[in-house]
Amino acid sequence: MAKIYLDPGHGGNDPGAVGNGLQEKDVTLAIALKVRNYLNTNYSGHSIRMSRTTDTAVSLAQRTNDANNWGADYFVSIHINAGGGTGYEDYIHSNLSDSSTTAQYRNLMHEEIMKQVDFRNRGKKKANFHVLRESAMSAILTENGFIDTVADANKLKSDAYLNRIALGHANGIARVFNLPPAGGQDTYTVQPGDTLWSISRAFDMTVQELKDLNGLTDDTIYPGQVLIVRGTGFEQGPVYHIVQAGETLWRIAQEYETTVEAIKSLNGLSNETIQPGQRLQVK
Ligand SMILES: [Zn+2]
Repeated sequence: MAKIYLDPGHGGNDPGAVGNGLQEKDVTLAIALKVRNYLNTNYSGHSIRMSRTTDTAVSLAQRTNDANNWGADYFVSIHINAGGGTGYEDYIHSNLSDSSTTAQYRNLMHEEIMKQVDFRNRGKKKANFHVLRESAMSAILTENGFIDTVADANKLKSDAYLNRIALGHANGIARVFNLPPAGGQDTYTVQPGDTLWSISRAFDMTVQELKDLNGLTDDTIYPGQVLIVRGTGFEQGPVYHIVQAGETLWRIAQEYETTVEAIKSLNGLSNETIQPGQRLQVK
């Protein structure tokens, strides 16, 4: 399972860059939450952790320590630029060669983000930023437009435009890790009285898996909340079916979206004869 660490820049008493009525910390958080949502909706085989999911102050060291302790596979730091320019650029650490894994990851990210946005392309850059240097895994820092340039700020004020920025990031991450499309994922709507522990038991997961998959940083859940409960990245236990009178292997295969051959193979059947009451493994 690919472990993706999303890092919305700044937060809390650190607004980041400000301009045209926008604060960088708000825009980076909005984009990062959308990236998480796109990844969880469209892809499977990954888990996401975020340096923050609300407007809170997190130091640079806390961010990289958190990602390192979690064992992230990719650190994606999202920022908005300032200083009077215009457009999009991204960074990897200065010591990395253009043929490094991190540079190859960045090439995919850059391509996917530029597919979605009409920002001027300012290119692929390198810098000795803390989050790039102190993260133990591949890391990228994206600068999505200039907050103090009216044309860029107007784009950043549009929720639809933030969606495009986020989709570019999500598709880039999906390409980097070759994430399979969603479909094998189930969701569960939290009921009153549920706890993460009770839900984890019900779906044969650990509490930590549940938290990672949903990007939860603490154990707080609320009734009505929709949780992803099992990605295709998890091993699924066998599924059994008790044969009912009149059923055929073909009909059972249809019901479980599998094939007659697969069921025969799972159960060591040499022909298609089955009996009512017989217990068949179907997956
Ligand atoms: Zn920033």
